[in-house]
Amino acid sequence: MSSSINKQKILDSIPQKGFFGNPKGLFTLFFTEFWERFSYYGMKAILVYYMYYEVSKGGLGLDEKTSLAIVSIYGSLVYMSGIIGGWLADRIFGTSKAVFYGGILIMLGHIALAIPGSISMFFVSMILIVIGTGLLKPNVSSIVGELYAEDDNRRDSGFSIFYMGINTGAFIAPLIVGTVGMKYNFHLGFGIAAVGMFIGLIVFMATKKKNLGLAGITPVNPLAPNEKKSVYTKIGLAILIIAIICAIAISNGLLTLNSFIGLVGILGILIPTMYFIVMYRSPKTTSVERSRLLAYIPLFIAAVMFWAIQEQGSTILANYADKRTQLEFAGFHISPAWFQSLNPLFIITLAPLFAWLWVKLGKRQPTIPQKFSIGLFFAGLSFLVILVPSYFGGAGSLVSPLWLVLSYFLVVIGELCLSPVGMSATTKLAPSAFSAQMMSLWFLANAAAQALNAQIVRFYSADTEMVYFGAIGITSLILGFILLAISPKIQGFMKGLR
Ligand code: GLU
Ligand code: ASP
Repeated sequence: MSSSINKQKILDSIPQKGFFGNPKGLFTLFFTEFWERFSYYGMKAILVYYMYYEVSKGGLGLDEKTSLAIVSIYGSLVYMSGIIGGWLADRIFGTSKAVFYGGILIMLGHIALAIPGSISMFFVSMILIVIGTGLLKPNVSSIVGELYAEDDNRRDSGFSIFYMGINTGAFIAPLIVGTVGMKYNFHLGFGIAAVGMFIGLIVFMATKKKNLGLAGITPVNPLAPNEKKSVYTKIGLAILIIAIICAIAISNGLLTLNSFIGLVGILGILIPTMYFIVMYRSPKTTSVERSRLLAYIPLFIAAVMFWAIQEQGSTILANYADKRTQLEFAGFHISPAWFQSLNPLFIITLAPLFAWLWVKLGKRQPTIPQKFSIGLFFAGLSFLVILVPSYFGGAGSLVSPLWLVLSYFLVVIGELCLSPVGMSATTKLAPSAFSAQMMSLWFLANAAAQALNAQIVRFYSADTEMVYFGAIGITSLILGFILLAISPKIQGFMKGLR
């Protein structure tokens, strides 16, 4: 009862209009996330090049395969840490403070990269950005949900506008950070990413009081005073144990890059599995909710396959852009970092079309599992098309950049069938006792995908590219067919949800 009064009080404190027919708070969240994604995708557009470019070219001079694996681990940890960020917000300081602290850590992380330095600076920055994004990203998205009453039908439009903010930031970042980073100096590029996060923080701090009212100020499920001591002791112990294990592993030379890649791979699978088991067995989960959880498992696996391909856009395809693509095109010199703008550009331009299509099709539109299988088909095709120029040109020649454009275009068609749908399906299929954690659950699909990528990217080289793109592309198509075949069954387990 008290929580519903609270909810009402929060809603009353938020100006309900002022941003494209949505609550004014959406303006604050839109621009905070716009700038955070600007900094993240700007950094990511040049990161892999910074790692493997020779020292004489301003890079760290690491081995190419190692660089690709580290970027995948990094991406995985960024989304895995969301479970910590979600927990801290729910139980200790509320979503609003989580966003603020997260933004500060992210900014410091980019500053660490901006200072010309050694590889240790790079790892410091990685830790700051992993924890910072875990605090900011899931929580800024949950506040979007908090702006609306339960039955407010503007919620979906709110999330679509927010999604546009993400992708607009992701679109301009490679053009600015990428251009400066590749043409002048990597560190200057990372510096611009830090400035971006700084602007995001200013927007958040300057407008949150007026626009967000009481939303996110208090934790939804705060630790009771009697719980505090035992929880803090457990956390302290866990940190101590991890520190001891790390110290032993490092001093015995056990913590190598390969063992770390393996560890992240295991965590990528273990964490979501544990999540499912805990939710399934919880006495708070009803039998209908249990059935819906079972329906969510194949969708989750499909999402892992999809993000595994989509996220290789900034690792394997970034490498392909650098090494295998003609960058002198129609009298222009193309920066390889600019390819990272294609995905968000296609998202921004095609998202309205898809929104219109689903409305137009109404009841005749594909079901959620069917949309997921379409997502897998297009992801698979996006890898298979790259076989065409390789087949005709061989591994030695440079291919037209238009092949990459086509590949990014195809994956976006899949992304628009899977990503927004997946987010809302997660909110609908999650048991109500766990609704606060659902954002983190969705991001765990991406974390698992990139953990998987860290294992497989080492098989990629110019000589193996045909087998590599072919095998992954075909696996995605096969999973897509299986999902399509069992989609009526999954629909049944969803117990009336569409
Ligand atoms: N491109 C999405 C973003 O940055 C990926 C996150 C997801 O897994 O949904 O928001
Ligand atoms: N489309 C991705 C996401 O929705 C952005 C990207 O890959 O650049 O945010």
